[in-house]
Amino acid sequence: MKDKPASRIQDYLVFGEFGGVNPSITDSSTFTFMSAEKMAEIFQQEIEGCYLYSRHMNPMNKFLSDALALLENTESAHVTASGMGAISTTLLQICQQGDEIVSSRTIYGGTFALMKNFFPRLGINTKFVNILDSDEVEAAITPNTKVIYCETMSNPMLELADIPALKEIALRHDCKLVVDNTFTPMLISPKNLGADIVVHSLTKFINGASDAVGGAVCADHDFIASLKDVNSGAIMLLGPTLDSLRAASILKNLRTLHVRMNQHSKNASFIARQLERIGIKVVYPGLRSHPQHQLMRRFLNPGFGWGGMVTIDVQSDEIANKLLPLMQNNLVGYFAVSLGFYKTLFSSPSHSTSSEIPEDMQHEIGMSGSLIRFSFGLDFEIGRTFERLVECLAEVGLVNEDSLMKAHQIADNMN
Ligand SMILES: *Cc1c(COP(=O)(O)O)cnc(C)c1O
Repeated sequence: MKDKPASRIQDYLVFGEFGGVNPSITDSSTFTFMSAEKMAEIFQQEIEGCYLYSRHMNPMNKFLSDALALLENTESAHVTASGMGAISTTLLQICQQGDEIVSSRTIYGGTFALMKNFFPRLGINTKFVNILDSDEVEAAITPNTKVIYCETMSNPMLELADIPALKEIALRHDCKLVVDNTFTPMLISPKNLGADIVVHSLTKFINGASDAVGGAVCADHDFIASLKDVNSGAIMLLGPTLDSLRAASILKNLRTLHVRMNQHSKNASFIARQLERIGIKVVYPGLRSHPQHQLMRRFLNPGFGWGGMVTIDVQSDEIANKLLPLMQNNLVGYFAVSLGFYKTLFSSPSHSTSSEIPEDMQHEIGMSGSLIRFSFGLDFEIGRTFERLVECLAEVGLVNEDSLMKAHQIADNMN
């Protein structure tokens, strides 16, 4: 029987000194040696179980990296100090001056800004395309293209990339397919669908506590080794090293990711369905109305649902600006960027995490100030959360008395 990502992580055993059930944190930046030859040897090539200096690797970062490789079913992985640290080093490892990237135009604002504004300084240019249109993707590729880049589920539009189709294009043109799986850990395994390299912001669902920033690159042995090469590795030389104390806490949180993803999905799915029923314009991949609903069904690892992310369109910037603090005051959750927290988080991407994307392009992809993105939390009584949310929607005039009554009934019936 093929084992599943949650089970692979469950069976990943690392013990602490004295038989601790959690690995001991090695709180050292440098490590002692008994022989000069050994030090020289390890400087040139990593040896399993031997450590030299913590930027290269340290025990806790190795444990977390190995667990993430199991999550994504890749040969290897390496953790970084942030998601951007993982994305920037991955792209810089592959691309040199004169190379090109073909990227989805609906991606995290920071990644967009990196490609649009920063990489051109290094002679690396990016063409942004509608990733759902295979012909457009292929037409953008030139002999200089080295990378096709996308997010499994895009931020914030929640579109699903057809990873197997992109893999075929990448193969035809000898490009690497790099996929950001931050929105769908556990749910979808991009490597199994054809991604060469999977990147993550651990800051979001994987850590789930909104207390740490981290990232990871999951790929084959050769690519991870190239990132860590002392002479030419982007991670080694640019130095986005995750602190080992943080790695320890992220690893412990990773152990409950499957339970959390399931609960995030249940709650998001409930709210999305109910909102759709009362006539709110809602986007959730688990809804039949989502254009890639069937595509995502093909990709899903069973048992974790359709994810915790939902967007709604509230018709105008003014309503959005009223609604965001209102929902916070009415205890729906927190008006904050980021996602994957145990509390519900909501924000207006157009004015925050996607503000790097110019207005005309936002318009093209269907994003505007009236779009609100939710990351639904682990709420125990989601009917109660729904009721509170509808109270806010009623206050700004988006739903009528009738819908408000229905929401009260739904919440009552669930109690
Ligand atoms: C947050 C995020 C990132 C960046 O991660 P950081 O940990 O903040 O550096 C990249 N991609 C996606 C999809 C994100 O949501």
